[in-house]
Amino acid sequence: MAGIKLENVTKAYGKLEVVHGIDLEIAHNEFVVLVGPSGCGKSTTLRMIAGLEEITGGVVRIGDRVVNELPPRKRNISMVFQNYALYPHMNVRDNLGFGLKIAGHTAAVIEERVAEAADILGLSELLDRIPAELSGGQRQRVAMGRAIVRHPDAFLFDEPLSNLDAKLRVQMRAEIKKLHAKVATTVVYVTHDQVEAMTLADRIVVMKDGYIEQIGTPMDVFNHPVSTFVASFIGSPP
Ligand code: ADP
Ligand code: MG
Repeated sequence: MAGIKLENVTKAYGKLEVVHGIDLEIAHNEFVVLVGPSGCGKSTTLRMIAGLEEITGGVVRIGDRVVNELPPRKRNISMVFQNYALYPHMNVRDNLGFGLKIAGHTAAVIEERVAEAADILGLSELLDRIPAELSGGQRQRVAMGRAIVRHPDAFLFDEPLSNLDAKLRVQMRAEIKKLHAKVATTVVYVTHDQVEAMTLADRIVVMKDGYIEQIGTPMDVFNHPVSTFVASFIGSPP
């Protein structure tokens, strides 16, 4: 059981502050989407949760732990990137299990978790293939599988679908929703695509210029935008 909590979190690169004291509480098993125009601080916020970026001020909690000082591998969260680099010479089975092997898990545990992830993602028939023998969508599923096998407390996604064509993007959205339903876990998902945000989110966090402009359910934000910025970004009627 682990939610995520940001308290007055700031990020500065040198003298330039790009995230300005944001507060955000994400419940265990909640699917939260960070949305907003390019450069508003979505990736930086996600990377601070992941521990890939040091925070300049504030507190980041995962579950009941303050994780400000913890490196990514000790936070027990998985990040799925846009450029899913699979190992080209390894089959799907080994791609899925590699991280666990490095972490020192036994062959029996690795086999069990790989089978579980393959089952969840519909990859069981493809375990002996190498990435070159997979479609774009199948490769994306393997990338997600590598996150699932770690049994993380939370999944962080940074625009995971933006390299895919429109049809596949819609299909993968459904996959990600299914994943969230099957593996009860907390998700923080970054996108600049408002339709993606509306279809995936339990709650949407609209960011602008390093601030949180509005937090609410998709319907809430759509029907009651707090500003013309939110209204025009989400596409609410005037
Ligand atoms: P988003 O993901 O919403 O497009 P980012 O979080 O990547 O935005 O970036 C937020 C702001 O921080 C932008 O103005 C960007 O130029 C700046 N920024 C991001 N990374 C760095 C960095 N390593 N050094 C300096 N500025 C950065
Ligand atoms: Mg980004």
